Amino acid sequence: MRLTTLVDVFALLVGGELGSRLFSYMGIQMSPDTMVRYRTTETTFSAASTDQIVCVSGMRVFSLCEHHLLPMWCDVAIGYIPSDKVLGFSKFARITHQFTHHLQIQERLGQQIADEVSRITGTNHVAVIIKGEHLCMSARGIRTPGVMASSVMRGSFRTDRDLRAEFMQMIQP
Ligand SMILES: [Zn+2]
Repeated sequence: MRLTTLVDVFALLVGGELGSRLFSYMGIQMSPDTMVRYRTTETTFSAASTDQIVCVSGMRVFSLCEHHLLPMWCDVAIGYIPSDKVLGFSKFARITHQFTHHLQIQERLGQQIADEVSRITGTNHVAVIIKGEHLCMSARGIRTPGVMASSVMRGSFRTDRDLRAEFMQMIQP
């Protein structure tokens, strides 16, 4: 049996029914229509201008570490520079959730979010910053709370220092 989704893991550990309930406590959809919901991430609008950074920060999501099957929370910030399409505000959260429904590692989560924002909006200028606390470190093993930060910088966010600094400033809490 290949464990690819949280559904598989909970089904294995605690059985389908209880697993399903635990799963919904984490705000994660299990129903077959989940993929239908995902399609709504693709809502875009015509861009008003192509010289501004658009960013959404402060999105806290939960997932399960694929090494230890323990929860991790991640604060996610996404920025991009629209080319001809802008993404609906709530779609950033939907895209993020789409990739937390699987056993994850933080580094891959950032890459997947960046890939998807790029794909839907058609721009290469995408930035994703994730700060995560992993219970596999905080609550077991070394038992020391800590926050891991990871960043994906693409296009101008990678090459333009000022742009990157502006983005970092914008996502400050
Ligand atoms: Zn872990």
